[in-house]
Parts: sequence; structure tokens; C-alpha cells
Amino acid sequence: MSEGSTVDFDGAAKLIGGARRLFLATHVNPDGDAVGSTAALAHLASERGVEAVCYCSDAVPAMYRFLVGAELFTREPGALDAADAVVVIDCSDPWRLGPEHTRILAHREKVVLIDHHTDVAPFGGVNIVDPKAAASGVLIYELLGRLGWSVDVPAAEGLYTAIDTDTGSFRYPNTDARCLRIVAGLIELGLRTDRVAHRIYESHRFERYRLLGLALKTLERELDGRLALVSVTLEMLSQTGADVEDTDDIVDYARGIDGVEVGAFLREDSGGMVKLSLRSKGGVAVNELARLIGGGGHPCAAGARFQGTLAEARRWVIETVRTALDGGPEG
Ligand code: 5GP
Ligand code: MN
Repeated sequence: MSEGSTVDFDGAAKLIGGARRLFLATHVNPDGDAVGSTAALAHLASERGVEAVCYCSDAVPAMYRFLVGAELFTREPGALDAADAVVVIDCSDPWRLGPEHTRILAHREKVVLIDHHTDVAPFGGVNIVDPKAAASGVLIYELLGRLGWSVDVPAAEGLYTAIDTDTGSFRYPNTDARCLRIVAGLIELGLRTDRVAHRIYESHRFERYRLLGLALKTLERELDGRLALVSVTLEMLSQTGADVEDTDDIVDYARGIDGVEVGAFLREDSGGMVKLSLRSKGGVAVNELARLIGGGGHPCAAGARFQGTLAEARRWVIETVRTALDGGPEG
């Protein structure tokens, strides 16, 4: 690919393939794509004798800790300066690298950005940014081909986790032949999709369901049933003993209702903030709504942090979605 291209597999393979020490970094509140993609690349690098450290400012959620490579994650950026290459994965906005983002970006010339968001202009020295890719895991898989690094079953589990979680287990509109062909190839290598599904979806703590019960009591419809909202307070978290990561799929209950076009999840955070998750069935590009308050994501799945109370966040969501529905093609 030519210089300045946003899909520069050759440049990335050169930088990563020539490195003896790799520093991999992914976004705050890591999801299955963030952990799975990063763990897979780090694991295969380690197998080749390359020192690989994975950095995330938040802990790896329990449901992804079974992945080989998850043990390479640290919340300390100490290995950054000595690294020959810095691989930033699934992170659209430098700010989402957390408190160390300035330090990481100071190494821009050795940063390879591998991502499928379009929130901001690619910020790596070398970039593989392809918004058509269903997950960053798709791009990691393709990069591994360029590197000539063969994928083993543990890495296949990471890449499958990435693709499965970012496509909503192959239900979202980003599910395409490209990602399914990759999954087929991973199965041919020995991947057991049932094993991964069991670890991700059938190994939850009981507290998660107690929290879900409380959250569902807040489920409500607005805008003639085209918007559904569901929320979690700090009190519900402490009452049930659930973790913040136990809230990651609650928004799906809002989107899942017949007639609903946008599902919204609102989670009260300390410091007068509310974490928003927005999900669309395709009619409303929710990343554009999230961007209004500094968030981002994909057209059908986006998030943001709202400064204010739960009640204020709820009003903001209703008014913003109302405007989008009125002005949008479906309006
Ligand atoms: P979730 O609602 O599950 O936190 O995130 C949905 C999507 O939006 C993911 O692709 C996630 O990376 C992105 N996202 C969530 N919160 C933010 C945010 O505050 N800023 C940006 N740029 N993207 C976000
Ligand atoms: Mn992703």
C-alpha cells in the first residue's frame, strides 16, 4: 500500500515483524474484540520469542480471562518506552487509551493502529483502519497472514471472540462473508465455537442476573415505542454485588423489543457521570448521536459518557433520539 494509506498491511507487517519487543494497547472498558484481538496477536508474538506486553487501563473482564494471552495484560505502561513497535488495537480515539494516551502517542512513529472505527482520523504512524471490517479481529487475522504467522487454536479463540462479540453473535448488520470465511478457517484449524460460547455466555456470576432483574424493572418505552431505555444505579450495583462488567448486555433487552428502533442503556457512575450505550436496528446512526457529547462507536452500537444525573441523561437521550427520528430517512 502507498504511504499515507489507511490500510497499510505491508507497513504494519514490516514494523511488527521486525520487532523484538511489542507493546500492545487497547481501549478502556475493553470488550471482546479489544481483548480477543490483542490477546491473539500477543500470544502468537510470544510463541515466536517476541516479548509482548498488553496494556489496558482497565482490567480484563472475567468472561474473557480464559483466553490465552489474557495473562499478558497489565494496567502499567512500564514496557512502553523499550518497545520497538506499539500496536494500538480497536481504539478509535486516542482518549480511549485512558490516562496514558499522551505518553503512548508520543511514540507515534512506531505506533501501528489497527481499528475498524471512524471516530477520528487515524493517529498511528502506520494504520490499518478499515470501517468495513466487522471487528478489529478480522484485521488482525489478515495481518497475521501478511506476517506469515500461523494461527493456533488459542489465537483462534481470541479472534473468534473478537468477531462473535462485535457482530452480536452474527446478528448485527456488520456480519459479512469476509468475517464468516475467517471463522470457517478458524474452525478448520480446530477452533471449538461452543467452547468459546460457553465461556463467554454461559459462565456468568449469579449476581449478574440479580442486577438484570433490578435493571429490567426500569425498562420503559418512549417516542411511541420507537425508543426503549433501561438503567442501572450505583445503588443497584452495591445492592446486588454485581460488577460494572455485568451490565454489558443489558442494552440488548431495550433494543430487542418489537417496534423499538433505538435501545438505550444508562449506567450511573461515580463523579456525576452517566455511561450511555446506544443500540440501533439500522434506521438511526447512533454513533452520530454519541458524538454530540464526545462519544463514538459504530452506526448500530455506540457509547458515550454524559455529565449529569441519570434523569438528565434520560431526557437528553429522549430529545436526541426524537430529533434523529424526526429528521432521519425513516422520520
Ligand atoms: P458500549 O456501548 O458497549 O460501551 O460501546 C459500543 C461501541 O461504542 C463500541 O464500539 C465502543 O468501542 C464504542 N464506545 C463506547 N463508549 C465510547 C466513548 O466514550 N467514545 C468512543 N469514541 N467510543 C465509544
Ligand atoms: Mn471492535
